[in-house]
Amino acid sequence: MALVVQKFGGSSVASLERIRNVANRVMREKEDGNRVVVVVSAMGDTTDELIGLARQTGPVLDDREMDALLATGEQQSAALLTLTLRNMGCDAISLTGWQAGILTEPVHGKARISKITPERIQKELAGGKVVVVAGFQGLSPGGDVTTLGRGGSDTTAVALAAVLGADICDIYTDVDGVYTADPRVVKDARKLPYVSYDEMLELASLGAVVLQPRAVEFAKLYGVKLQVRSSFSFAKGTSIMEVGQMEKERIVTGVAHDLNVAKVTLFDLPDVPGIAKTIFKSLARHGINVDMIIQSGNRNGHNDISFTITRDDLPRALTVVEQVRQETGASGASFGEDVAKVSIVGAGMQSNPGVAAAMFEALADEEINIQMISTSEIKVSCVIDAVNVAKAVQALHRKFALDEVD
Ligand code: ADP
Ligand code: ASP
Ligand code: MG
Repeated sequence: MALVVQKFGGSSVASLERIRNVANRVMREKEDGNRVVVVVSAMGDTTDELIGLARQTGPVLDDREMDALLATGEQQSAALLTLTLRNMGCDAISLTGWQAGILTEPVHGKARISKITPERIQKELAGGKVVVVAGFQGLSPGGDVTTLGRGGSDTTAVALAAVLGADICDIYTDVDGVYTADPRVVKDARKLPYVSYDEMLELASLGAVVLQPRAVEFAKLYGVKLQVRSSFSFAKGTSIMEVGQMEKERIVTGVAHDLNVAKVTLFDLPDVPGIAKTIFKSLARHGINVDMIIQSGNRNGHNDISFTITRDDLPRALTVVEQVRQETGASGASFGEDVAKVSIVGAGMQSNPGVAAAMFEALADEEINIQMISTSEIKVSCVIDAVNVAKAVQALHRKFALDEVD
């Protein structure tokens, strides 16, 4: 008897009709003789709607109360799916994140899972029930409700699959797999039959929201067999697996883009030891993650430093950067939200020279200016003007012949 974890995203549970569709899928899995744990997201745009409501209460949004509010979205869909299953004659029980034993760090808004005590889930499974867990949430050591960051139900599902030793973790969503680019942006994007954990981690971290990066991290760490599939069709999905099991390495597997980017520049910093330390330690102290960094060459003993952060962090970064500007004697600072990041990802690029150059050529041919570049063994990323993002993704997709992937 296999143990299957099925995760259904917001669009898959957006209405009672869709919840019935999900219930049918769950029952089919159960009738095949499997034990089933289901993880659900909040219905449709519920999380965004709750954030909108919270904003109407005033300018200050306490992190703890925001988590208490947002976690209710997933509790609604878990209970509604369970009621639907029971009305269809399937024995099921819903559990909140904490009832399911999910403990996290004491951080609000993007907590990491620290431990799972799965005894309650195991007991309910042993009793023959389908266990429906509310995704995206956990409990801090101090007993407060925490949430796992946007897209966090993916991580709930993979972490549960890991701790329960599930045979498979299926991520059901509104696309039938992982594509060579976001199918909403590139209409010729092709579905990939498989993607390595490392490539998927890069794609997800670089903006492919189809999986939360931490979910892929967990899957790789614990060897969870992961599949991305459609909840609206029975088409074969995409397997996320270890690279050694793959038939061949692709030079470029996919293109990702991210609009949740802001660029900050500090001008005329003294070119002396300790300046970068001062800037980036202050940002780290305030919990602001920095992505790309570039420093200009020395100009009369001074230089400029630009870096990118997520747009969500920009309001908090403004104050920190002003403090840093005064501390370092920089002549000024600028902030840009009209930027985006486009990236190519592929395990084969490390052994094929000229891939980055081909990317720059594709962007140049479209007269798209590159503001920043960063590379790793299996990816190249460029920061460009946000207005050009769709054009850039489409040009890169063509350049690397991704519409011909079979
Ligand atoms: P869910 O609500 O099911 O978690 P998400 O909206 O979080 O769904 O993720 C699915 C979406 O991810 C798709 O609708 C698609 O637009 C987007 N996406 C971005 N990049 C990719 C990609 N490379 N392959 C497939 N989908 C992608
Ligand atoms: N409901 C949360 C979100 O919208 C978590 C999730 O869907 O995975 O980000
Ligand atoms: Mg998602």
